[in-house]
Amino acid sequence: MGGGQLGRMFAHAAQAMGFKVAVLEPGQDCPAGQVAERLIPGAYTDQSALAELAAQCVAITTEFENVPAGSMAWLGERSFVAPSATCVSIAQDRIAEKRFFVDCAPTSGVMPAPHKTIASHADIDAIDDDLLPGILKTVRMGYDGKGQVRVRSREDVRAAFDAMSGVTCLLEKMLPLAYEVSVLTARGADGASVVYPIAENVHRDGILFTTTVPGPNVSDACAKQAQDAARAIVDQLGYVGVLCIEFFVLIDGTLVVNEMAPRPHNSGHYTMDACITSQFAQQVRAMARLPLGEVRQHSPAVMLNILGDVWFEGNSDTPREPAWDRVLALPGANLHLYGKDDPRRARKMGHVTFVAPTLATAQASLLKACAILGIPA
Ligand code: ATP
Ligand code: MG
Repeated sequence: MGGGQLGRMFAHAAQAMGFKVAVLEPGQDCPAGQVAERLIPGAYTDQSALAELAAQCVAITTEFENVPAGSMAWLGERSFVAPSATCVSIAQDRIAEKRFFVDCAPTSGVMPAPHKTIASHADIDAIDDDLLPGILKTVRMGYDGKGQVRVRSREDVRAAFDAMSGVTCLLEKMLPLAYEVSVLTARGADGASVVYPIAENVHRDGILFTTTVPGPNVSDACAKQAQDAARAIVDQLGYVGVLCIEFFVLIDGTLVVNEMAPRPHNSGHYTMDACITSQFAQQVRAMARLPLGEVRQHSPAVMLNILGDVWFEGNSDTPREPAWDRVLALPGANLHLYGKDDPRRARKMGHVTFVAPTLATAQASLLKACAILGIPA
């Protein structure tokens, strides 16, 4: 379900193991549709498209976080579907997700940020002073920092809530972040699970900018705590497939769980070049009910997201072709482009991962790539 770059890289991994892939996607000329054996055009709720997918596939998964849970449930009655509609619906709804994290805290040992549901003006009047300043986030359909407003006062919350046409929101306390990490996990239908090395993420303008593994700021104790928490969370969810959990590490060292993605994740792209089993190959194994693969990382790695911005000269509208020849001449470079014809600013077009014997070498290549591509480092 879904024809974006995550579906494309999943299809590549499935095909490498001899499987054939069908993609259901509403848009035209999608990255996964270019490589899948079959493309079923249609809305995610289109009954005949769903029926065709169920008839053609022995296993069905999603690459699109906001796939209607009802469609996953319907497919689940006709084929093997993972993750389940229930898991997907929790991850799609910030309120359900936060509630789940709180329920999980006795075993995971981590809590989400203090928060409150904002569904009416009365809710705004009842905001505890301690929740401000905060971030008002739409409960559904948020990604890459979209649907989020930073708020300092109740008046700010009211203005932001009204500007979002009164859709239900979640107010989260603004926490003092030292850095951000994510933990990629996979769990098989037999309940066996694996946890990848912890990844340190830097965001820019709400979009993932780089992922570094091992994370320069991550202590062994923090890594262990995040990995243990992730294992507890996937087990309690009864999850099947690849799941990525994002955490904040606060200035005082406290680990806070932020959100989870019920699919391979941008911060896990480094696994394609630096781990024994990539996150996409892992998803294929989980779908085919094969043993999960080793998650061992064989080389330090840094991943740089490539946004549409690099197809333009500076801040102008003048198009240019990025100097891939120079990027690929850098030590340890692995370029992945997603087959999108239309570069737009802030659109994810690809990524480049640098793998090297030492993290310092990989980071040096990343800095040079930023200079070549005109990305402020
Ligand atoms: P994505 O789907 O791209 O991961 P998103 O739009 O779903 O992002 P979040 O991950 O919740 O949203 O938030 C985006 C970024 O905003 C975070 O990575 C973090 O940098 C910042 N942020 C979010 N919540 C908080 C908070 N409570 N305190 C401080 N910073 C926050
Ligand atoms: Mg996030």
